[in-house]
Amino acid sequence: MQTSIISYPRIGANRELKFAIEKYFKKQSSKEELLECAKSLRARHWSEIKEAGIDFIPSNDFSFYDNVLDTAVLFNIISKRYKALNLDPLEEYFAQSRGYQGEKGDTTALAMKKWFNTNYHYLVPECDDAELIALSGDKIFKEYLEAKEQGIESKPVLIGIFTLFKLIAFKDEATQKLAQKKLLKAYIELFEKLNSLGVKWLELDEPYLVYDLEPKDLELFEEFYKELLTHKKNLKILLQSYFGDLRDIYPKLLNYDFDGLGLDFVEGKQSLALVQKYGFAKDKILFAGLINGKNIYANDYAKSLKLVKELQKYTQNIVLNTSCSLLHVPYSTEFESRLDSTYLKLFAFAKQKLKELKDLKEILNSSEENPLFKANQELFKNIPNRLDESVKARLKSLKKEDFVRQPEFKERIQIQKDFLKLPLLPTTTIGSFPQSADVRSNRLAFKQQKISAQNYTEFNQQKIKECLQIQEEIGLDVLVHGEFERNDMVEYFGENLQGFLFTQNGWVQSYGTRCVKPPVIWGDVSRTKPITLSWSKFAQSLSQKIVKGMLTGPVTILNWSFPREDISLKESTEQIALAIRDEVLDLENAGIKIIQIDEAALREKLPLRKSDWHSEYLDWAIPAFNLVHSGVKATTQIHTHMCYSEFNDILKEIDALDADVISFEASRSNLELLDTLKAVHFKTQVGPGVYDIHSPRVPSEEEIQATLEKILSKLPKEQIWINPDCGLKTRAYEEVIASLKNLVSATQKIREKL
Ligand code: GLN
Ligand code: ZN
Repeated sequence: MQTSIISYPRIGANRELKFAIEKYFKKQSSKEELLECAKSLRARHWSEIKEAGIDFIPSNDFSFYDNVLDTAVLFNIISKRYKALNLDPLEEYFAQSRGYQGEKGDTTALAMKKWFNTNYHYLVPECDDAELIALSGDKIFKEYLEAKEQGIESKPVLIGIFTLFKLIAFKDEATQKLAQKKLLKAYIELFEKLNSLGVKWLELDEPYLVYDLEPKDLELFEEFYKELLTHKKNLKILLQSYFGDLRDIYPKLLNYDFDGLGLDFVEGKQSLALVQKYGFAKDKILFAGLINGKNIYANDYAKSLKLVKELQKYTQNIVLNTSCSLLHVPYSTEFESRLDSTYLKLFAFAKQKLKELKDLKEILNSSEENPLFKANQELFKNIPNRLDESVKARLKSLKKEDFVRQPEFKERIQIQKDFLKLPLLPTTTIGSFPQSADVRSNRLAFKQQKISAQNYTEFNQQKIKECLQIQEEIGLDVLVHGEFERNDMVEYFGENLQGFLFTQNGWVQSYGTRCVKPPVIWGDVSRTKPITLSWSKFAQSLSQKIVKGMLTGPVTILNWSFPREDISLKESTEQIALAIRDEVLDLENAGIKIIQIDEAALREKLPLRKSDWHSEYLDWAIPAFNLVHSGVKATTQIHTHMCYSEFNDILKEIDALDADVISFEASRSNLELLDTLKAVHFKTQVGPGVYDIHSPRVPSEEEIQATLEKILSKLPKEQIWINPDCGLKTRAYEEVIASLKNLVSATQKIREKL
C-alpha cells in the first residue's frame, strides 16, 4: 500500500509566497529574491511531504499566480495583447495575471473564474492564434529536476489536455479547431521530453470529467487520449479526477492505457458504486481519494478503512490519496495557539492530512489493533456540544410566508423610486474601501487588546468620515461606510455570531496572492447582538446622501466557511439566514434605506452536474436569501452583489432572490451577460461592474463611457446602476479615487446625452 497527494498548498506555512510576490510587485525586491523564495518554499514542501512518508510526491504544483495560467504558458497559449508588450517572461506572466499599464502599453488581465466548486479562482487562457501553440515553457521540467536534486523522484502534476482545452477562451471556431491539433502535438512533445528526463509518473488532472459530459465531449476526450497514450513510452500516466465522480465515462476509462486512475470518494457520490458495478482494471492502480482535500475535519479512520476494504474486493493495486489538491485547506494546525485543543484535535489541515495518509497505510499494513487506529477512534468520543435548542425551535416555527417579500417587485420598485429619489444611472461602490496598513494595524491592536474599544472605534469613525468625504467629493450617489471594521466579509460576521470557531493562521488561497481565512461552523448559529448597526448609523448620520447598510448573505457565509458535516448545509444556512434577518430589520429600524446583502459566493456550491442543481442546492439556497429580507418595508431597497458574471444559466434563480438591485462582475468577461438579461426579461435592477478592481490599472473616462454605452444599448436605462465590479479593499487610494472619478464623470457625460 502506498500513499499520494494530488497537490500541496504553495503559499507557504506563513504565506511567505504571498508576501514575497507582493513585495516584488511593489518593486521592493528583485526578481532574484522572488525566485529564491519560491525555490526555498518548494524545497521545504517537498521535504515535509517526504518526511511525512508520502510515496508519490507532487512537483509542478507550485505557481506564482495560477496553475492554469502556468499550463497555458507551458504551451505558449498567450494572447497577442500580452505578446505585444514585449516583456520579460515573468513580467508577461504577471501582465496576464493582473493587467499591465506602463511604458510598454496598457492592457487588462485575463478573465478570472471560479475553479469548479471551490473558492479558488483560475485565469482563463486566451487563445487568439492557435498556430503558436507548442511546448515552449520549461517550468515543469525545472521543478522535476529541482526535486531530483533534493533526492526526490517526484510526480509532476499538470492540467490534462481535455480540461485545459475546455477551459481556454478561443477567438473563434477556426482557432479552436486548429488548437485541438496543435495542443495534442504539444502534449506529445511534453511526453517525449518527460521520457527523456526519465520521469516515472505524470499526473494529468482532468476535473472537467466530473461535469455532465456531452457525446462530443466524450469524442474529444477519446481523440486526445487514444493518440496521446500511444506516445507515453516509459512514462506512467495517472489520470486524476476530483470534485465528483466519473459516471459518464468510467467504464470507458477502464479500457484506456492509463497506468493510474484517480477517483474522488469524498465528493464523488457514485465513485464507489461505479467501481462496484464495473469493477476496476488489472493493469491500473487505483488512486483512492479518501482524505477530504476540501474540509478541515479529521478523517475517521474506521470509515476510510471500510472503504479501502470494500475497494480491495475489486483491486489490490490501491494507492491512498487525497480527494483533491490540498490547496483548498490551510497549511497546518500547529500554528493555532488560541483554539482549544478539544476542537483542534478534531481538525486536520494539509500537513495533518499527510499524517492521516501515512497512518492509514500503517494500519492497513498491520491491523486495527494498531494504536494509531485506536487513537483516531478516541478523537470522536466526547465531541464538544453543537446543539442550541432555541435555534432549532425558531427554524421549526418558520412558515411559507416568511420566505416571500411583499409587495411584489413591480409595485415596490415604484414606491422606492419616489422614496429614494435617485438620479438616472445611480453611481455607487460595492462596499469596502482600501484596507490600508493603518486600518489593519488598528484592528490588530484592538484584537490584541493593545488599545481600548473607544480608541479602536474612534479611529474607524475617523476613517468612515474621510471615506464619506472622498465619496461626496467624487460625487457618487449612494455611499458606503467603507467596511474598515472588517477583516473579511465572512469572517467578520462569523466572529459576531454564535456557533463559529476561528483559526489564527488558517489561510487558503483564493486567487493570486489573495488568501482568505474561512471560519469554521462548529455549532448551531445565532445572533446575540446587533453587528453592523452602530457603524451604519454613524455613517448615515454624517451624510445627506443615502449610505448603504452592508451585510453578507447566508449562502456566502456558509460557502466561505468550513461547513459542518453533522447537519445539512440547508439547515446550517437557514440558521445563518435568521441571524442576518435580525440584522436587516435592525438596520431598517435605524433609518437605513438601502441594505446590501452580498452573495458573492452564491454559485460556489452549485453542483457541477446540472441535474443536481435544484434538488441539491438552489431549492434551499434561494429561499434562504428570501428569508433574510422578506421582513422589510416596501420602501427599503435591498441590494445584493455577486463576484462573477457566470450566471447565465441560473438567471431565473437569481431573479428569484427577489432583491431590488444586483451588482456583479462583468468587466473581465466583456459584458456578454447583458444580452441574456434582456432576453429573459430579468426584472431586478442591475449594476454590471464597469471596471476591474482585481487589477491596479486605472480605467480612463473614455473607456468607462464606452462600457456604459454598451450597457445602455442592451438594457433599459431605468434598470441600470453604475459601479465597479467588486469591493475596493485590496486597492490603493490613488487608484480608487482616480478610477471612481472617471466612473462618475463618464456617467455624467452619458446622462447629458440621454
Ligand atoms: N461588500 C464587499 C466588499 O466590498 C463585497 C466583497 C466581495 O464581493 N467579495 O468588500
Ligand atoms: Zn465581489
